[in-house]
Amino acid sequence: MQHTDDMVQERREMVELLRRYGIRNPRVLEAFLTVKRHLFVDGESRMFAYHDSALPIGFGQTISQPYTVAYMMELLVENCSSGKVLEIGTGSGFQAAILDALGYRVFTIECVAGLYELASARFEKLGIPVQSRLGDGTLGWPEEAPFDAIIVTAAAPHEPYKLMSQLADGGVMILPLGSLASQQMTVIRRKGNRFEHEGFDHFAFVPLLGREGWPDSDE
Ligand code: SAH
Repeated sequence: MQHTDDMVQERREMVELLRRYGIRNPRVLEAFLTVKRHLFVDGESRMFAYHDSALPIGFGQTISQPYTVAYMMELLVENCSSGKVLEIGTGSGFQAAILDALGYRVFTIECVAGLYELASARFEKLGIPVQSRLGDGTLGWPEEAPFDAIIVTAAAPHEPYKLMSQLADGGVMILPLGSLASQQMTVIRRKGNRFEHEGFDHFAFVPLLGREGWPDSDE
C-alpha cells in the first residue's frame, strides 16, 4: 500500500488520543509524532498502525499498544532524562526507535531470531543508530553495562536479578511485574546496593522468556 502523505495526519490523531488518555510529557508526545509506526509493521497491520492497539508482528509476538509504550516512556523520561538505555524485547523495533527519538543511546536485545533480523534490517534502512543483539535479554548486555535505564517490554514473573546488577547507581528499571494474566508497571530505582520499588497501573504483556522469565511452553 502506498502512503504518499506518510500518514502524518494519522500520527497526529494518535498523539491526540494519547493526550486524551493522559500522556502529557511533551518530549514523549513529540517522539510519537516523529516515529513512523507504520514502518514497523507489515501487510494488513499497516492499515491499523495508528490505532491504539497491539498488532501481530509474526512469530506469535506483537508490537505493543501505543498507549502502553507512551506510558513506559513517560515513566522513563521522568526518572532518567538522558543516557544509556537497554531494552529487553526488541520485537518490531518501534519502541527502540522511540527511545532513540527521545535522545537516549539505545541497546536492545531480542530472543526470536526472525524478529531480531527484521528489526535490525529496519534500523539500518531507516538510519536509526540502535545497537541490537540476538539472545536472552534476562542476562543483559554485560559488555555495555552499566545502564542508566533498563526497559523490559515483556511480562516478568520477578525482578530479573542479572539485569538489576547492570543498572548504574541512580539508574532505573521499568518493567511489567506480575502474573501471566496481568502485570503492574513497576519502577525500580537503584540507590547504591538498595533497590526501591514503586508500582503503577496494570497492563497485559506477552511473557518474558529466558533464564529469568517464564518457562517456554514449547519446551
Ligand atoms: N518493544 C517491542 C514489543 C515487545 S513484545 C516493540 O516495540 O515492538 C515483547 C518482545 O519481547 C517479543 O518480541 C519477545 O520475543 C521478546 N522477548 C521475550 N522474552 C525475551 C528475552 N528473554 N530476551 C529478549 N527478548 C525477549
